[in-house]
Amino acid sequence: MNARAHELEVREVISETADAVSLIFDIPTDLTRRFVYAPGQYLTLRVPGDRTGSVARCYSLSSSPHCGDRPTVTIKRTPGGYASNWLCDNVSAGDILTVLEPAGNFVPRTWNRDLLLCAAGSGITPIMSILKSALTLGNAAIALLYANRDRDSIIFAPQLRDLARRHPRRLTVTHWLESERGLPTSRDLATWARSHRRHDVYLCGPTGFTATVKQALTQLRIPDRAIHQEEYRSLTDNPFEHHTSLTTEPPPSTPIATSDAATVRVDIDGETHTLPWPRNKKLLDLLLDHGIDAPYVCRESACGTCICHVDQGRTHMLHNEALIDDELSQGYTLACQTLPDSDTVDITFE
Ligand SMILES: Cc1cc2nc3c(=O)[nH]c(=O)nc-3n(C[C@H](O)[C@H](O)[C@H](O)COP(=O)(O)OP(=O)(O)OC[C@H]3O[C@@H](n4cnc5c(N)ncnc54)[C@H](O)[C@@H]3O)c2cc1C
Repeated sequence: MNARAHELEVREVISETADAVSLIFDIPTDLTRRFVYAPGQYLTLRVPGDRTGSVARCYSLSSSPHCGDRPTVTIKRTPGGYASNWLCDNVSAGDILTVLEPAGNFVPRTWNRDLLLCAAGSGITPIMSILKSALTLGNAAIALLYANRDRDSIIFAPQLRDLARRHPRRLTVTHWLESERGLPTSRDLATWARSHRRHDVYLCGPTGFTATVKQALTQLRIPDRAIHQEEYRSLTDNPFEHHTSLTTEPPPSTPIATSDAATVRVDIDGETHTLPWPRNKKLLDLLLDHGIDAPYVCRESACGTCICHVDQGRTHMLHNEALIDDELSQGYTLACQTLPDSDTVDITFE
């Protein structure tokens, strides 16, 4: 079992809409430090399944660590989806779920910059956490656009009304209902966003919606570095069911020439490990094979959980979805995709 998986009790289940529930977790004292999280991060839940033993699904925390909330995830049913419907139908207060520690990098680095928040449907979940935190921690102006099918499908409608009433000078909330106005076009969104175009953008929702928002942002010449996006998808890997490497293993007939291996020094959890690093072995796989408890969730470069810093030496990634140009130029990499280029490499997990 993944060393970052823990059993948590569900303290309360809140029905948010006909299609969405929030699960509030109790964190036992000995796990408090492991479940410290930042606004915008997510938990990964193990959902039992008779076909495969279990499936793993990520759910963003809708609670704010800065507002005295207990850690809470909010799950909306995906039509025909397995895990979301299982969670909505089966979980009650007092149940125990297996949950990975918080992860993700859809997290504002400062609370002083004005924010343009765009969400559709269940995409409101991390946005709600960011919104509440920003109102508590900084003085930024915040514009939220929240798109939904109809009035009944708005998650957190009373909370948003209350926040807008309490912060009239800082927060504007615009609801876009498909039932009243149709789907928003990029032109509609550009018109709405124009007066907020110097804000940092945080965007979360279904692919069609995020693509339209991005077109609008391009029309307004908002630079990519100001745009942060959380992409929802179901994991194909299952971090609960195994703990060894999956890919890029050479077939047994191709022995690894250890003389050609690089050497990596890894600082993680206050310890330093020095290991031979075969040229075709991804860093995360190398660490897990040596029993080193490196953080990971998706292993597909999407979640950003295995982010680490190259302090010395050269590496390259096979694939990158989670890191933006700024992070790459500062020397960050994703362990699940990283191979060595130079003979020696120093890595730090922060
Ligand atoms: C970072 C991140 C944050 C997210 N945050 C949220 C959030 O806050 N709120 C939210 O609602 N969603 C969120 N999501 C999306 C969420 O993780 C799921 O993708 C979504 O709930 C759909 O999952 P699903 O299993 O219901 O649907 P699907 O993934 O479409 O389910 C179908 C899949 O389940 C498998 N399956 C079907 N039946 C079984 C069975 N009996 N046993 C085993 N497998 C079966 C099938 O192979 C099929 O591939 C987030 C995703 C990411 C990556």
